[in-house]
Amino acid sequence: MDLSQCRLCPRECGIDRLNGKTGFCGAGKDAVIGLYSLHKWEEPCISGSRGSGTVFLSNCTLKCVYCQNYSISRESVGRKVSASELCEIYLKLQEKGAHNINLVTPTHYALQIKESLILAKEKGLKIPVVYNTSGYERPEILSEFEGLIDVYMPDFKYWRSAYSEKYSMAPDYPERVKAAIKEMARQVVAAQFKDGIRTKGVIVRHLLLPGLLYDAKKIIDYLYKNYGNSIWISIMSQYTPLNIAEKYPELMKSVGRREYNALCEYAARLGVENAFIQEEGAVGESFIPEFFKD
Ligand code: SF4
Repeated sequence: MDLSQCRLCPRECGIDRLNGKTGFCGAGKDAVIGLYSLHKWEEPCISGSRGSGTVFLSNCTLKCVYCQNYSISRESVGRKVSASELCEIYLKLQEKGAHNINLVTPTHYALQIKESLILAKEKGLKIPVVYNTSGYERPEILSEFEGLIDVYMPDFKYWRSAYSEKYSMAPDYPERVKAAIKEMARQVVAAQFKDGIRTKGVIVRHLLLPGLLYDAKKIIDYLYKNYGNSIWISIMSQYTPLNIAEKYPELMKSVGRREYNALCEYAARLGVENAFIQEEGAVGESFIPEFFKD
């Protein structure tokens, strides 16, 4: 991992982040965090009763047009932190009772995250570490985290590259996410729990987008065919339309309950046993956190 010729994600910009340059993701030399807190809106085995120790990293390697965390993913809102400051944040969250450390969108800070995790484990970090990612990853970089990450939580956003190009500017996303999940499963496929909290394994998230039920079914087919019930699937219904009507009118509506239920029933008929399903009403801007403004 080398920031002087950054190739941390599939974009492989090759730019020198150590000397003031930024690539597609907008990240520079220092890691930037938008927020850290005890977060209760993840899957139950991640949030538990006390909350997940969530660290939101700013900037992003994708440009999803419907992103709910736009201020940190596109506008770099947040605070610069060193690896040792990140380490202190993890320990503080552990002290507050967090069930785990949940790194949200860590890909473009892989180097700093690795350093901070090694430091934190030396200083007494005991709770599981969750790598919560868009899934747009290079397996070579993920392999650097073997033994440091306990739970991988990637999205699997798109089945067809026409949509990953249109909505996230990443035509290669479908192939990249498959390779990334393969590497994640190699590292931690066996699911383990302690007191109802996930301590090892892979949870793949899919957010159903309006009109893309066919693609969602193909993703579930793929995951079940390749991993059976060894990985968990989180089927999400919380798509929230943002103000993108001009260019993407087809995204200016919520996902209907009928469409969502059809997908859940499809997964069940296929034989998927380990899935998280969202209750009706888990939609809205109240789920978007307030990020640091400095
Ligand atoms: S992490 Fe950022 S700078 Fe590095 S290759 Fe990816 S998009 Fe480019």
